[in-house]
Amino acid sequence: MLFTNPKARKHEAPHVERAGPAEAGRPGRAPEPQAQVLEAFFARLRRASLRVLMLDYDGTLAPFRVKRDHARPFPGILEAIDRIARDERNRIIVVTGRKISNFQAISGFPDGLEIWGSHGWEHQCSNGAREVLACEEHALAGLIRAEARLARNGLAERVELKPGCLEFHWRGLPDERVEELRGTLTREWAELTRGGGLSIHEFDGGMSLRVPGRDKGTAVRAVLSRLPADAPAAFLGDDETDEDAFGAMTDPCRLGALVRTEYRMTGARAWLRPPGELLKFLGRWSEAGMNR
Ligand SMILES: [Mg+2]
Repeated sequence: MLFTNPKARKHEAPHVERAGPAEAGRPGRAPEPQAQVLEAFFARLRRASLRVLMLDYDGTLAPFRVKRDHARPFPGILEAIDRIARDERNRIIVVTGRKISNFQAISGFPDGLEIWGSHGWEHQCSNGAREVLACEEHALAGLIRAEARLARNGLAERVELKPGCLEFHWRGLPDERVEELRGTLTREWAELTRGGGLSIHEFDGGMSLRVPGRDKGTAVRAVLSRLPADAPAAFLGDDETDEDAFGAMTDPCRLGALVRTEYRMTGARAWLRPPGELLKFLGRWSEAGMNR
């Protein structure tokens, strides 16, 4: 499986008492119970004057839809986000693969949030100032060439070109068709990865051709670099592209949480099953603001 990240293979949960996923994956080390991980994180949160909550959108806060623009948050999520946003000590930051304009059009999130879009290639400050980060002309030309080829093959409606990335969405197609498309894209894009400075990634619902250099991990590191070292911060994500962000959350006052119905091997230290455990986590965050 050329494009499958071994970290993303599905596994049964390793411990019936919800062991911390990251610890459970390391041989020779006792798993850290999830309850303990969360308790320690929320204890820090209660004492902190600045707390940062970074959130992926699709698959994390909003269930997948075949029509991508119909992806709305789970019931109760917007209210929970709003309660957290009302406490001035909290900062909510969205880190998504979507284009910022698309995220804003469909999510129903309040204005005034910092957003990293297009896997770290777009950034909008909380005051609304937006920038698209520059990528190499050569790589950009490769993305445009790939888009044109797919259009010639009658696949334009499943293609999305955005800063630093071209995504092909196969959600909703039968398994055999997905297998066929995976093979076709692999062959079509091979040349672009060899000479074009691009890399291929598989995500939940499709495949992407990306300009290397930025991802959700670089976005999260940029956020963390502006914070005091002891400021508690969490990142919640669901798919393989979120592993880059989990990898940036290694400090004890930082928490990566995998939001997913089925457990898989991950660099995140906690695992939340949506929507119930996700809503409980967000509720706990806003309550931690009240007990000063
Ligand atoms: Mg996601």
